[in-house]
Amino acid sequence: MKSYLIHYSEIGLKGRNRSMFEEQLLRNIYRAAKGLGQVTVRRLFGRFRMDIELDEHATTIEQRLGRVFGVAYFAPIEVTKGFDLEPVRAKLLEWAKAGGFESFAVRVRRVNKNFPAKSMDLARDLGTLVGANCDARVDLKNPERTFNVVILNKEIFTYHRRIEGGCGLPVGVSGKVALLLSGGIDSPAAGELLLKRGCALHFIHFHSAPFTDRRSQEKAADLASLLIQHRAEAHLYLVPLGELQRRIVADAPSAYRVMLYRRYMLRIAERLARKSKCLALATGDALGQVASQTLDNITVLDSTIHMPILRPLIAFDKQDIIAIARRIGSFEISIEPDADCCSYLMPKDPVTKARRRDIEEVEKKLSAAGSPIEELVEQIIANTERRTIGPDGVVVSPAAEPE
Ligand code: ATP
Ligand code: MG
Repeated sequence: MKSYLIHYSEIGLKGRNRSMFEEQLLRNIYRAAKGLGQVTVRRLFGRFRMDIELDEHATTIEQRLGRVFGVAYFAPIEVTKGFDLEPVRAKLLEWAKAGGFESFAVRVRRVNKNFPAKSMDLARDLGTLVGANCDARVDLKNPERTFNVVILNKEIFTYHRRIEGGCGLPVGVSGKVALLLSGGIDSPAAGELLLKRGCALHFIHFHSAPFTDRRSQEKAADLASLLIQHRAEAHLYLVPLGELQRRIVADAPSAYRVMLYRRYMLRIAERLARKSKCLALATGDALGQVASQTLDNITVLDSTIHMPILRPLIAFDKQDIIAIARRIGSFEISIEPDADCCSYLMPKDPVTKARRRDIEEVEKKLSAAGSPIEELVEQIIANTERRTIGPDGVVVSPAAEPE
């Protein structure tokens, strides 16, 4: 059996939020450990203790815990029953002799204040033991290696290896957001930032099949699975936008095309987001990156729907976005070629300063034409496929949910 002491970040730990934060984090840790063996996680003096039955999964559990948001860091611990310090000394001796550090400190914490020895005295005593058995010097300010001893009511924890967690907030504490996931580099990076701030995500991808191949949909599914991992279960809506794009190309001035695609995307996304109980949409927009992302155009886009649109990358440079994408592993998937629905039928002269009045005028004409565009929107929503993404990959749900 392997045991870990899990420290969580202090953020969001005030008042009633604290138990909500802890319960969600507990659920997320269980989820991360799923399938790796018998696991128990318990709350303990403002930390969690995890016991996991099978030793052979240690590296996998460490990789997974390292990605749990809300975990500041965690440490594999040696657990000694009772108050016998001999096994603790034996462990420190073993670690001292193994070396691999030039300076060290021993820190003792008594959660059980009835324990007879004072923390400082014990730390000094154990420090002397370590010092006598290795070449390293004591450095209490900035030690390369810290040996920790925590004395609880019925047992003692000893550890020195500290592994970084995902930090941020536990996924789920900040509500649900529907991310518009294109298959480009930006939107997965935007999703990662929102997950880190505690948002649970659902995904909406617009494609132009059957006018283009299905590759963009598989890419979206791959990206959604990568973002979700063992963090939650998510919906992926695959929305066939092709007919609507053809309609816009046929009946609207070409300069407005992208803005019109985007406005209808937002309207459809708002409806799908509500089905999955999301409070907001999110996009990978960055200010000035392309024509539809000028401040003027963003203002017009925001006026389309009543749901807030979160744009976590709004002030990010492309290089910084790429750095996030590389770190989370989405970059390699995003750069695979596909026929994105907006590269299909892209105009040469998109407006950069759209006026709301002009766009609304164009939309009015589209509504008034032979077959109103609203009917097309309804049809598109009815033909949207919903998949469920879980830790085991992608599961296709039987049918789209009725409105
Ligand atoms: P790139 O990395 O090439 O910029 P992108 O995904 O950012 O890719 P943009 O054209 O910049 O593509 O689109 C801005 C945002 O609009 C995207 O980040 C995404 O949130 C949303 N979006 C664009 N196209 C789609 C699509 N086909 N499906 C879902 N969302 C989309
Ligand atoms: Mg972009």
